Amino acid sequence: MITCHSDSMIHDNNIIASVESSDGITFQSYVEVAIVGAGACGLTAALAAKEKTDDVIILERDATPSGSTSLSSGFIPAAGTMAQKAKGISDSAEVFEEDINKKANGRQNKELSNIVAYQCGKVLDWLTLKHDINWCVLDSFLYPGHAFHRMHAVKEKTGSGLINRLQAASEREGISLSTNCLVDTIFMCNDLVQGLRVTRPNGTHEFIECGNLILACNGYGANKELVKKHIPEMSDALYFGHSGNQGHAVLWGEQLNAKIKHMSGYQGHGSVATPHGVLITWALMMEGGIQVNQKGCRFSNENEGYSEQSVHVLAQPGQVAWAIYDEKLHSLGKEFPDYIQAFKSGAIKTGKNASDLADIIGINRDGFKKTLQDVECYTRKDKLDPFGRKFKRELDSENKLFGIKVTGALFHTQGGLIVNSKAQVLKMDGKSIGNLFAGGGAACGVSGPDVSGYLSGNGLLTALTLGWLAGQNISIK
Ligand SMILES: Cc1cc2nc3c(=O)[nH]c(=O)nc-3n(C[C@H](O)[C@H](O)[C@H](O)COP(=O)(O)OP(=O)(O)OC[C@H]3O[C@@H](n4cnc5c(N)ncnc54)[C@H](O)[C@@H]3O)c2cc1C
Repeated sequence: MITCHSDSMIHDNNIIASVESSDGITFQSYVEVAIVGAGACGLTAALAAKEKTDDVIILERDATPSGSTSLSSGFIPAAGTMAQKAKGISDSAEVFEEDINKKANGRQNKELSNIVAYQCGKVLDWLTLKHDINWCVLDSFLYPGHAFHRMHAVKEKTGSGLINRLQAASEREGISLSTNCLVDTIFMCNDLVQGLRVTRPNGTHEFIECGNLILACNGYGANKELVKKHIPEMSDALYFGHSGNQGHAVLWGEQLNAKIKHMSGYQGHGSVATPHGVLITWALMMEGGIQVNQKGCRFSNENEGYSEQSVHVLAQPGQVAWAIYDEKLHSLGKEFPDYIQAFKSGAIKTGKNASDLADIIGINRDGFKKTLQDVECYTRKDKLDPFGRKFKRELDSENKLFGIKVTGALFHTQGGLIVNSKAQVLKMDGKSIGNLFAGGGAACGVSGPDVSGYLSGNGLLTALTLGWLAGQNISIK
């Protein structure tokens, strides 16, 4: 049985996230499908659910939906899509699954990684065919850990472009979106969701009965207490995700006796321009750039991945590093909207050679020159990089170089509710709560228990795929 509480559960940071019995509650309205959160997961779930019923509502706490999705780069990994085939990319779900598995060192939720690797391509094709959302495949560089070019983006190559298109599709379908609706209480009866309570900004409440409830309210990145408890190494780090991600799904899950896993897993990023607060594309590092600290020295294998690099950067003096690269990589960077924004905001410094750049950005000149000499040796294979990176090209210390001061940040959490192949929430005894679904950051992802297991794109991968599965598997009275 699910434990129900008669009083509202007020958690740390004064967040109300309660599970209560529906006994004695008078609901003011009924909806077949209620979805909490209007990010990529919630909107995708709504589009899928709409194929089964017209009675779908999305409840969003913000006045204008944005979520972490709109802050993101909007890149979604998927295998075997029409967009890949059109480019002659012979990727497969099998290889994609292997890549997820390798990055997480086999510690991820394997049932889920199999599902998302095989289903995400279908979701993207469905969005194209049914909802006119077209994808380009990013092929100017290979994201760390991916064997093929499989990162898909809308034309704008931004998360806001992605959310705008999902929202436009949902408007075309006539799906109701109610904003300024903070869902804070779930009502249960006989191990099934009976309804929920919405609190409006003016403090008034609405009680809505629902046939199905989909949790698409992301993780707990913005909840300081939960981050401190589960991800202590990031408790003082910059949080770069959406402030509304307060951990409602896991707080409800705890009261529902739901299975919750990998709460220490997360996506970090080791390349946020500081103090400008702009994400710098990791393409620079994958194609020959390096990161150095104040002493001018490298401190890690930059090609392992941007997520774990967050921890390496935060371990450097002043918790900062400098991304260093050349003119060719500057041209590559200009393909990314964030990079152009960084350029306009003055984050990108240039020097006519290595010594000049070192003086401009304030790092140790001799240490920096020695680092560049070492990289030359690693490229020529005269020496092995102690961090294990295989260099394909060197940076010419006598020519123009670029530098950006960066720090490490927490982007989003990967731990959460364990769901089955229908995206239904599972309880500790392994049984599902039949009409409760979770996806995206609300659910446990496929990155395992720590930062290094995050393969680029694991966030939107489970947002879209689990949202789609949840919407498909609702049951209608
Ligand atoms: C800077 C940055 C770049 C990123 N780039 C990528 C990328 O390129 N590829 C990738 O795969 N991932 C990326 N990510 C991660 C990605 O953004 C997330 O994994 C993804 O957006 C999660 O989608 P979601 O729908 O679960 O959550 P969100 O998009 O955060 O949506 C959740 C919504 O729920 C609402 N909400 C929360 N609680 C409640 C409540 N109680 N009641 C009502 N509403 C509520 C929130 O306001 C929010 O609108 C990036 C993240 C960041 C921060």
